[in-house]
Amino acid sequence: MKALPPLLFVLSALTACGTPAPRHGGKASVAPAAPAATDESAAALHRRLLTLDTHLDTPMHFGRAGWSFGDTHTYAGDLVQVDLARMDAGALDGGFFVIYTASGPLTAQGYADALAFARGRADRIAATIAGFPTRIALATRADDALRLDRAGKRFAFVSMENSYPLGEDLGLLAEFRRRGVRLAGPVHTKTNQFADSATDEPRWNGLSPLGRDWVREMNRLGLVIDASHASDAAFDQMLELSRTPLLLSHSGSREVWNHPRNLDDARIRRLAEHGGVISATTVYLTTMNIGPQREALFGQLEHIADLSPAQQAELTEATRALDAKEPLWDSNIDAFMRSLLHLIEVAGIDHVGMGGDWDGGGGLRGLEDIAALPEITARLRAAGFSEADLQKLWSGNVLRVMRAAEAAAQVGDDGAAEATASKGGDGA
Ligand SMILES: [Zn+2]
Repeated sequence: MKALPPLLFVLSALTACGTPAPRHGGKASVAPAAPAATDESAAALHRRLLTLDTHLDTPMHFGRAGWSFGDTHTYAGDLVQVDLARMDAGALDGGFFVIYTASGPLTAQGYADALAFARGRADRIAATIAGFPTRIALATRADDALRLDRAGKRFAFVSMENSYPLGEDLGLLAEFRRRGVRLAGPVHTKTNQFADSATDEPRWNGLSPLGRDWVREMNRLGLVIDASHASDAAFDQMLELSRTPLLLSHSGSREVWNHPRNLDDARIRRLAEHGGVISATTVYLTTMNIGPQREALFGQLEHIADLSPAQQAELTEATRALDAKEPLWDSNIDAFMRSLLHLIEVAGIDHVGMGGDWDGGGGLRGLEDIAALPEITARLRAAGFSEADLQKLWSGNVLRVMRAAEAAAQVGDDGAAEATASKGGDGA
């Protein structure tokens, strides 16, 4: 999401399982005291799985003065839901770190400003990940996730929320690919030059002509198309036009909660028929409480990296006070599980992933930050899902979609175009 950053609430702990962690045995367990809810065997199972989240907005915090991605934080302490220590605590092996750019005027100046911002965000992500070479590394192919995991490291894919910064120059997609981007969505909360937004007035009845070219270029470069935030019509057109399956990095079911950011069952089924994946999110499961006070706080949070430590502390305090009397989402983990189970029922176990919208507005009671992720596995286990099912949900399905995009790419790993167009000849 965004424009609606985080939630608050206390750090949710998880059980530090008594058995040695098979997959990440080398990593320090920093899990705090165990809550009663997490079943120990499920916690051990969760640690065995390869896990990823498809929408981590944490890069917004990467540039903060006095703050390090490598330290242990709490949402209550500084409004952040993801850090390396909690990736260990919640056994989150990796995910897509987002280059999010707010929409602005569809003008040359607007595009130029947004491009400068997006490049800066990409640089910041690269520098932050590079700062912890023994703990996490950039991943650009599906197989990198497995390779890094075997090496005892977390993996960081990079994604782009909102292609607005590309302006009308689709050649910039190749630049962002070189910068590591492997997943991108055309649009955010405002209709832009590429597509209608799910939450704005339609202008194109789906994709614009440039948006159709954007789809073709995404396919050519082997990038996964993210349809979260796109209007229904834009979703339909991307589904038909794309040569590779779509991913919705953070969306839900309209049947569970009627909101345009969520997908209706018919579209979820068609997504699955085309091989795609919808990653279950923690947002839009209930009414959003967003008044002037919340909007003002979000406005500051967007630019938290520009605040002094004292100003950051003030913002944290003000946000905590508002959360206490008027939480952004007055909901809990039960609502998330209802949504997740509905998605699985409709799409099938091969077509659902996880995308909490952490640090982008996500988080519910009982699911306050990524340290709580093992509780999802525990509940799915209790609902009867096998380890193989859970592996699909936590990463297998998304990696399959990535591999499909990689296989369809008409460029080499370095981004160089292939000599001939013989590989695809799509144009469809
Ligand atoms: Zn979003």
